[in-house]
Parts: sequence; structure tokens; C-alpha cells
Amino acid sequence: MFTNDCLNVNEKGHLTIGGCDTLELAKEYGTPLYVLDENVIRQTCRSYVSSFKKFYNGNGMPLYASKALSCKELCRIAKEEGLGLDVVSGGEIYTAVQAGFPMEKVHFHGNNKTADELRFAIESGVGKFVVDNLHELELLNTIAGEMSKKVNISFRIKPGVDAHTHNFIRTGQIDSKFGFALETGEAFNAVKETVSLENVVLTELHCHIGSQIFDIEPFVTAAEIMMDFISEIKQKLGVEIKELNLGGGFGIMYTEKDEPVPYEKYMEKVSVAVKAKAAEHGLEIPYIFIEPGRSIVGEAGITLYTVGGKKNIPNIRTYVSIDGGMTDNVRYALYQSDYKVVNASKAGEEPNEAVTVAGKCCESGDLIQENAMVAEVEVGDTLAVLSTGAYNYSMASNYNRIPRPAMVMVNNGVSRVIIKRESYEDIVKNDI
Ligand SMILES: *Cc1c(COP(=O)(O)O)cnc(C)c1O
Repeated sequence: MFTNDCLNVNEKGHLTIGGCDTLELAKEYGTPLYVLDENVIRQTCRSYVSSFKKFYNGNGMPLYASKALSCKELCRIAKEEGLGLDVVSGGEIYTAVQAGFPMEKVHFHGNNKTADELRFAIESGVGKFVVDNLHELELLNTIAGEMSKKVNISFRIKPGVDAHTHNFIRTGQIDSKFGFALETGEAFNAVKETVSLENVVLTELHCHIGSQIFDIEPFVTAAEIMMDFISEIKQKLGVEIKELNLGGGFGIMYTEKDEPVPYEKYMEKVSVAVKAKAAEHGLEIPYIFIEPGRSIVGEAGITLYTVGGKKNIPNIRTYVSIDGGMTDNVRYALYQSDYKVVNASKAGEEPNEAVTVAGKCCESGDLIQENAMVAEVEVGDTLAVLSTGAYNYSMASNYNRIPRPAMVMVNNGVSRVIIKRESYEDIVKNDI
């Protein structure tokens, strides 16, 4: 009935996740409520880890891109499953430190890392700095020097592959705020400059070509371009870079229109291309990092809401008002993202009503979905929005001073809070 593995319908006709009745969860923890299924998260982590063993002699490591959902429990799970971590801010570093994450397995990204963040990252023992621009390179070299540290770096490269959901462009893509362009020589010059710097060691090259990508071809193309660049560097500078970070961006299912490929297919295809390029150029086969974010937590999560109102505007549309909205899920307002909505109270019934799911913020654009087909909604029903594990909580805000929802982890019929619901006290805690 549901494409998300963790979802089902019980004998009461209620939606279940990880063996828990969603109406019971709503009653116990309140709504809005983020719910995550632990098995789906761990299985996805394992499929990435095993894809390296199966197709690449285990010569690589997936890093969980924690911006998709950064919290201590996810850091702990990533640690237990043998993943590294990709972080993009001091706050995400702090979260990892607090969770006891092995910081040498952390890659620090971002196009404007501040001096304070760089210092904090060095102090925290972050393993790799993915340098975005020349100013950062010099700043990092200076700060590391002041702290008598030598740090390992990578460069974020724009490989000239710009991938979107179902297509990709081979050239262009110089117009991005992230990284060094290849075709202008900017990337090569940065590598050249690094050789003379004392407190940074270039060990890796990185690229990330987009997000919610379903085709493997653009990843293969990007990997080949990066291998060619590693060869060019070796020929011209005599330096061989032995680690390649190919980023994240693997697509997930939001609605039936999406058809994700099994995640291990990625390493199956990319490993062939990388090995062929290594042979062609006489290079060592590089250690590979990948950075899945959305695909680790996205489909594992749902959000539960209580319907508080219904407004039928004849010949126009029917609004269903929920007790959350753009404060807990901004993705429809931001990019008209598709979501599947289920009336969790009547999950066994055929969807027979088209509704617009509206949030409670003072903003007409505060919608979660338009034209969603659901079983007839009544005030008091519990609605579930599916595939909300990624970029929902992590993008949440306190607009209208609405507290952020709690997050609950479910596992084989047992539930536990992993992020507490914010209180009104939390809302004013920094007000003077
Ligand atoms: C956002 C991002 C990721 C994760 O992307 P997903 O689409 O969530 O897999 C990985 N690496 C970098 C550098 C990113 O910016």
C-alpha cells in the first residue's frame, strides 16, 4: 500500500510507522510531530557502507551529510554504522562533538567559514577542511599556524556537471557560489598555491553536483572529470592526490512520480569508471568518500499534524488547516516540493478528496501541498506528510513564535523522543 517500507495500515485503519500507530503517537507526544523510523535509517547507512565493500574493496567511506537532519541521535547512529560526517557550520560541529562523534571522520564544508568556526573546528579535531576559495585557504593556513597545527584539506571543485532531477548539463555551472572552477584554471591555480603553504596539506579533491538526482550518469561523468584533474595535477606539479570526495545528492521518493535507484548502484557504476581512469592515467586507485544526506533520513521520516479547520471554497479549492506549516516544513513554500499526504485516521480508505494543506502561519504562501488526494478529511483527523525526514526539522523556524515540534524515533513498535518539543520558555530564552 505504501512505498515507504516503514509504513503500513493497522486493523483500525490507522497509518502505522515502524509498527507504531500514528494516532497513538499523536496522542502521546502531541502534534505537530516528526517521526523517524530507525530501521530505515540504519538499513540505508548499511547499504552505502556495504556498496564500498562489494564494489570497491572497502576502499572508501560514506559521510552522512548532517545538514539534512543534524541532531545528536543522528550523529550517534552515523557513528555506530561506521559513517563519517559532513558538517557545514560551527553549530553542526558542536552537535557532533556533543554526540561524541569521532571528529577525525568529519569533513567541514561551506562557502564562508568564519575565523571563529575555523578555530573551533581545529580545536575540535575536525579531520578535513573542504576549502571553498583562496581567501579561506589563506585564513585557514594562518589560523592553523597560530595554533601550531597542520590540517588536512580538500578543495571544492566545480566539475562543470550540473545535475538536476532528471537531466544534467555538462558545461557551464561556473555560476555557483561554491568552489573553484575547473575550466578557467582557477582550480589548478589553487592547488599550485597550496604547495607553498606550511600549515595545510592537500590530500583530497571534492565535488558535489546537485541534489535529488536519479540518474547515475552525471555522477560517473563528474568522477571521470575529477580523475582527469588528479592526473593533470600529477603531471604538472608532481603531486598525487589520493582521496576523492564525490559528494551527495542521491534522489529519494517523495511521491509515486519519483523512482530512486537502489543506492548501491551508485558505487557499482562509479567504481568501474574510477578504476578505468586510474588505469588510463597510471594513478593509484583513490580512496572515495560520498556524502548522502537526504537519502539517509528523508524516506525514514513523516510529520503528523492535527486538522483544526476545513474551508471549502466552491469551484476553487478546499483548504485543510493543520497545526504546523512552513515553520516545520518550508520546502513547499521554498521550492514547491511534492509531498504525499495521507489521512492517517483513515489510511485504509481510498483517497477521494483533493485538498490544499495549509499551515497556521500568517502568510498565504504557508502551504504544505496543493491538490493532495486524501481520504475525506474531518476536523480532528491526523494527517501524515510522508518523506519529511530530510531538510524539514533542519530548516525549521520560529516564525510567528511557533515552537519547533518534537521528534520521535520509532523502532519495531517502540517509540522514544530524540528531540524535545520547544516550549514557550525556549521561545523567549534569548530575549532581554
Ligand atoms: C547538501 C550537500 C550534501 C548532501 O546532499 P543530499 O542531496 O542531501 O544527499 C553533500 N555534500 C555537500 C557538499 C552538500 O552541500
